[in-house]
Amino acid sequence: MATVYLGLGTNLGDKPANLQFALDSISGQQIGVISSMSPVYQSEAWGYTSDNSFLNMVVCAETELAPEALLNACQRIEIAAGRETKSGRDYADRVLDLDILYYDKLVLHQNKLSIPHPLIAERKFVLQPLCDIAPFFVDPALGNTITDMLMACTDKTRIQKIELTLR
Ligand code: ADP
Ligand code: MG
Repeated sequence: MATVYLGLGTNLGDKPANLQFALDSISGQQIGVISSMSPVYQSEAWGYTSDNSFLNMVVCAETELAPEALLNACQRIEIAAGRETKSGRDYADRVLDLDILYYDKLVLHQNKLSIPHPLIAERKFVLQPLCDIAPFFVDPALGNTITDMLMACTDKTRIQKIELTLR
């Protein structure tokens, strides 16, 4: 059994419904039991320009899936949510993005899968919700806590906590 942190993002369609769909899919046997979930943040698009703002959150889950199987499960859920485009070299609007942030204390660099997710330290919309549920988690690659990483992060993208009740 592994403890994993997953980053959820959506900026198309019914965004609250997309997040709820992701939560239901994660816990509905696809990945495992969700042990905690962060508040939801609204954020501007990061790394590209878009009129569509994002909703982002982070969840912690317990899973029996190996890393590769977990990535496949995440991608199946993205597609089931209606995601059509895969980001190529550029970022794009998406119905649902499900990223593996951490998998226990694993450090892995493969073609299709890097764990920890390579951009955690640069993204406030990931660090802030992560810090809400795992402030003292130590990043296995950097050796710093999430709190330290958030304090060191220079990302100026505006994010705002919103009231959204998810189950
Ligand atoms: P992005 O999330 O960067 O906007 P995608 O969701 O389309 O773009 O992901 C692009 C690719 O990133 C995926 O096909 C996957 O193989 C790869 N990838 C590498 N590491 C991870 C990770 N930790 N979590 C999710 N995807 C990852
Ligand atoms: Mg992704």
